[in-house]
Amino acid sequence: MEVVLKNLTKIFPSRNRKNGDEVVAVNDMNITIPDGKLVGLLGPSGCGKSTTLYMISGLQKVTGGQIFFGDDDVTHLTPENRGVGLVFQNYALYPHLTVKQNIMFPLENLKGADRLSKEEMLKRTVEAARLVQIDDLLARKPSELSGGQQQRVAIARALVKMPKVLLLDEPLSNLDARLRLQTREEIRRIQRETGITTVFVTHDQEEAMSISDEIVIMKLGIVQQIGRPQEVYDNPANLFVAKFLGTPPINVFAGRVEKGMIYIGSEAFLEAPVPDQEVYVGLRPEGFTLDENGPFSCKLKGIEVMGRDVSVVGAHPDLVSNSLRIIIPSDMGVSEGCERVRFSVRRNKCFIFRKDNEERIPLE
Ligand code: ADP
Ligand code: MG
Repeated sequence: MEVVLKNLTKIFPSRNRKNGDEVVAVNDMNITIPDGKLVGLLGPSGCGKSTTLYMISGLQKVTGGQIFFGDDDVTHLTPENRGVGLVFQNYALYPHLTVKQNIMFPLENLKGADRLSKEEMLKRTVEAARLVQIDDLLARKPSELSGGQQQRVAIARALVKMPKVLLLDEPLSNLDARLRLQTREEIRRIQRETGITTVFVTHDQEEAMSISDEIVIMKLGIVQQIGRPQEVYDNPANLFVAKFLGTPPINVFAGRVEKGMIYIGSEAFLEAPVPDQEVYVGLRPEGFTLDENGPFSCKLKGIEVMGRDVSVVGAHPDLVSNSLRIIIPSDMGVSEGCERVRFSVRRNKCFIFRKDNEERIPLE
């Protein structure tokens, strides 16, 4: 089921009548979620991800715009009539019910023509449990399950009604790191097996990048960029997107373009066929190669061993991001004894951004 959001807007009235500031939680959002794909909705806390999801589900009314499921305008349908499955960060299982009863619960509430026989409900429940691999835990209570297992029950409960659209709001944030990774792969597998169009909300860029067919990056209610994860990483539309994707994050410097060359301080290191101007220069941590004749140098503050690679922590007077980090293979031989290190920089790992609106300036 293709999902289309058209000029979708949500404005919350101010809580405090006197100062009158309303919150534009989602601002004129236009996206298409392709049939059968998993789209990651990504952005910092407060950027409007949950609000978007709740509007798709029908739990929250829209202020403006439209929501389409296929050809149907569902903007004003109730949640029950949209055929969506929803999973929240807090699993909200019923503690006094067994796993089986929890999963079956939405089916027991079906009314009229949708009502299922007891056998059919049980069959669907077992199928959903099997899909998330908890079919051996059906008799347990939620308190007898691990966090990861509880979240699987919540997913099974969302799947049991065979939703047309699956909506997941930070479903992994309560899990520890290892379980998070495992459950993330599970969600991906389930999504592929069922082919249900899925929106996965997270503030974790790595999670979104690894699980999504496409990511949508938001800031203050406004969509910044939409695309395949690698595409967006390699071609960020603006400084915000460049900074939001990647660990360690991109290194950002105050620089300039002069006579067709990009400068950081007095060092010119890359050609740029653009007019002279002040710019932000972004250099991805993996874009450096040790090179004593290279055009980029920095002071060495320390080296962090990460196994296969090392992370060189540097200092540079023109740095405007929090820290300068360069990732190089551990056998490249930077020793803590060096005071300054010199690098060449790969062209496709270097971006420049306008100083005024922080849009990226293409280098081609
Ligand atoms: P996210 O899920 O990306 O963290 P939300 O969608 O929850 O962001 O919130 C977006 C913005 O809308 C925030 O500024 C938040 O404070 C505001 N907001 C969310 N829900 C309400 C509400 N019920 N009333 C007023 N403001 C709200
Ligand atoms: Mg949220």
